[in-house]
Amino acid sequence: MADLAHDLADFIAISPTPYHAVAEAVRRLRAAGFTEQSETGPWIGGPGGRYLVRDGTILAWSVPAGAERGSPLRVFAAHTDSPTLKVKPNPDVGAGGWRQAAVEVYGGALWNSWLDRDLGLAGRLALYGGSTVLVDVHRPLLRVPQLAIHLDRGVNSEGVKLDAQQHLLPVWGLGAPDEGDLIDFVSGEAGVDPDEVAAFDLVVHDVHPPARLGEHEELLAAPRLDNLASVHAGLGALLAAAQRADGVIPVFVGFDHEEIGSNTATGAGGPLLETLLTRLAGGFDARGPVFAASRCLSVDVTHAAHPNYLGHHDPGHRSVPNGGPALKVNANQRYATDAPGAAAWQRACRDAGVPTQVFVGRNTVPCGSTVGPIVATRLGIRTVDVGIPVLSMHSARELCGVEDPAHLAAAATAFLTDPS
Ligand code: ZN
Repeated sequence: MADLAHDLADFIAISPTPYHAVAEAVRRLRAAGFTEQSETGPWIGGPGGRYLVRDGTILAWSVPAGAERGSPLRVFAAHTDSPTLKVKPNPDVGAGGWRQAAVEVYGGALWNSWLDRDLGLAGRLALYGGSTVLVDVHRPLLRVPQLAIHLDRGVNSEGVKLDAQQHLLPVWGLGAPDEGDLIDFVSGEAGVDPDEVAAFDLVVHDVHPPARLGEHEELLAAPRLDNLASVHAGLGALLAAAQRADGVIPVFVGFDHEEIGSNTATGAGGPLLETLLTRLAGGFDARGPVFAASRCLSVDVTHAAHPNYLGHHDPGHRSVPNGGPALKVNANQRYATDAPGAAAWQRACRDAGVPTQVFVGRNTVPCGSTVGPIVATRLGIRTVDVGIPVLSMHSARELCGVEDPAHLAAAATAFLTDPS
């Protein structure tokens, strides 16, 4: 278990953006013998492991040697993106003798958690020639400085009040801003001629590495646990399932854009998963019976019971770190779980010998949602929502139990290979 948590920490550290997470996933899949299915090329049928990439989204699947036309699908769905600050197209700004970067907020970030951190910058540069280049400035480069308490005497009792336009701009040096400064610098770091850079997607990230925490190091503190912990477990589960799946086709998908609502070309609301599953089912006319016999495990982190705010949780449905991944239930289908789906999850946990728990939100606290209900609505595939418990969700640095990622990977492997 410790090994898996260690590997998760490495995966997170080298995946500051969805593009990097996808690149690392591809590296791991290729090492296991998976080959690329080009989106524009001919469909590669037959047994074997394949993957397909579009931007920050990756799909991977393994067709067993004995798979027949009409084999049911077992899908693991997660998301590759996390809340952060994204650099604007004209980034070079400044005030009061400081050089700053213009940013906007991506997703539901806890803004205050980004204050006073050593931030790197990562993403992709799109060149005039049509190619893209990944870049990761993985050292302290920027900081969003908090106002000193001497200049904001009420901050502790009244809370940090932040205006996203005015107060979240990171500094990255001194002097007057010059147009082109930031991208010239980033291009240099990427080894690219800045004159060739036509556009970019760049976000900040905390460069402090993940760390074990607690008397017995039973916790893992890291950025982007939401939702790279699930992506990492899902990749491991697919690779394990590829060795032993029989009669079902295991599929993994890591979607981009969950944190901004999923309604994008590469998000869960887009067509990528539907297109793939239709092909795996043997075409549009054949897919109805296949989808009806298929299942999806939608995996995203859930809220661990917070000791200082227990009143925010339902007392009978709280989850704790290292108690196993939680089944997520909501009467209004903000989570797609229903009783037969829950039973499939419980069977997977029993078969894998891992503990599980149940999360239901407090009736007075609206719960979040994730890719599960979107996949279920688009495809009509029975879907069950689960996830490992974390504290500080959407903070720049989150906290989970060190054993839960391994529990999740084991239960997901059982789910992806379950023929019943
Ligand atoms: Zn999430």
